[in-house]
Amino acid sequence: MEKISRTKIVDLLRRDDFGAMVNVKGWVRTRRGSKQVSFIALNDGSTINNVQLVADLANFDEEMLKLITTGACLSVNGLLAESVGSGQKVEVLAREIEVLGACDNTYPLQKKGHSLEFLREIAHLRPRTNTFGAVFRIRHNMAIAVHQFFHQRGFFYFHTPIITASDCEGAGQMFQVTTMNLYDLKKKEDGTIDYENDFFGKQASLTVSGQLEGELAAMSLGSIYTFGPTFRAENSNTPRHLAEFWMIEPEVAFNEIQENMQLAEDFIKYCIQWALDQCIDDIQFLNDMFDKELIERLKFVLSHNFIRLPYTEGVKILEEAVSNGRKFEFPIFWGADLASEHERYLVEEHFKCPVILTDYPKEIKSFYMKQNEDGKTVRAMDVLFPKIGEIIGGSQREENYEKLCNRAKEMGVPEKDIWWYLDTRRFGTAPHSGFGLGFERLLLFVTGMTNIRDVIPFPRTPHNADF
Ligand code: ATP
Ligand code: MN
Repeated sequence: MEKISRTKIVDLLRRDDFGAMVNVKGWVRTRRGSKQVSFIALNDGSTINNVQLVADLANFDEEMLKLITTGACLSVNGLLAESVGSGQKVEVLAREIEVLGACDNTYPLQKKGHSLEFLREIAHLRPRTNTFGAVFRIRHNMAIAVHQFFHQRGFFYFHTPIITASDCEGAGQMFQVTTMNLYDLKKKEDGTIDYENDFFGKQASLTVSGQLEGELAAMSLGSIYTFGPTFRAENSNTPRHLAEFWMIEPEVAFNEIQENMQLAEDFIKYCIQWALDQCIDDIQFLNDMFDKELIERLKFVLSHNFIRLPYTEGVKILEEAVSNGRKFEFPIFWGADLASEHERYLVEEHFKCPVILTDYPKEIKSFYMKQNEDGKTVRAMDVLFPKIGEIIGGSQREENYEKLCNRAKEMGVPEKDIWWYLDTRRFGTAPHSGFGLGFERLLLFVTGMTNIRDVIPFPRTPHNADF
């Protein structure tokens, strides 16, 4: 076969130099036609769109033609031609076809219309579907948007550790990291496990958040963000939780809660705008396929200011709804942690707009959040989104050394684990704020997918770590 340098399909579909000899490589999506001619839809992942190959069967070897089945991988030389019937502007009149990889007839993606549940069981192949091609191209673009947004604003990308020995946040929901032989665990006299001979000489786990280390960086670099894998062993099998997910955590010196809220709003809107600008073919596909209101919803969020509301006001609204007959599964009262159904009621039914809820009771929030004058609430902020519930959790941080130590003690966080964190409040402390955005929750919103397992290539959830 003549050696011609490959053109990606995304580029090919934009060309109009008809008559040019081109090479395309990709996987067969469908093949149809007659005894004389075959129409082959080829996709190479560069775009959701296929290119149509037209093959005059008389020109090709019969045995080779038999191998052109759905899923097979081809390299094709041919003439770029104007197309009338393919739905695209161009097609390729095949001159030479090489089957790079035949596909046997056990290929599970023979026909369209598999359920998302079934596709999860073949996560090694699902990127080859239109749906997951679209989702993963969008996922890439959102990651780029995240870096663009912060880089343009002078934030530094800061890498926090994945293995950590401080479990101040996630007690009970951390995955332990060990090289000890679990069949032959050394115990101390009091029955507790002896970590002396473990790899780190103490108990270690996978991180649940890079925030504490992020704060250290903000006290020097000013504005930083992290973007990395995060692990939580919460046994909640919900459509919004993964055991392994990606989190983006900006932390900014001198920002107070108001500026933190504005940063969160600007950040989400930037990402959504980016998706509409860069991924419209994929979003349009998902819109038509799964969720007719997707694009409308994205545009709606861009054109509205997020509502800002204290928790106490939010609870009043919810209590009123209950007294007007609205039923919730979980009880609502001042002091209660809001369930997803409460968050979504505020966003979808009451305000019909994203909501930033602030000033939560200190009992249901972490020890590091800045305490309000009222002695009851802290400067927390959760950004609540339609269809998702909480998409961002953040706060202004307590910068006062005594107050922070006291709160840590009250909440049972041992000083020996966080002495380095407390040090920042002794050595030139400053007001500062930050938040965490779950990358997959953002992707749920942008793609319109309803299960978080469908926006990450290989989801990890309770009893599921295949592939
Ligand atoms: P939730 O109440 O929804 O379980 P959280 O309050 O435990 O979330 P934070 O500790 O505030 O979450 O984490 C910051 C962000 O990380 C959340 O707003 C969410 O977007 C995301 N997030 C948290 N836990 C998970 C998870 N298990 N899977 C995917 N994303 C998550
Ligand atoms: Mn939260």
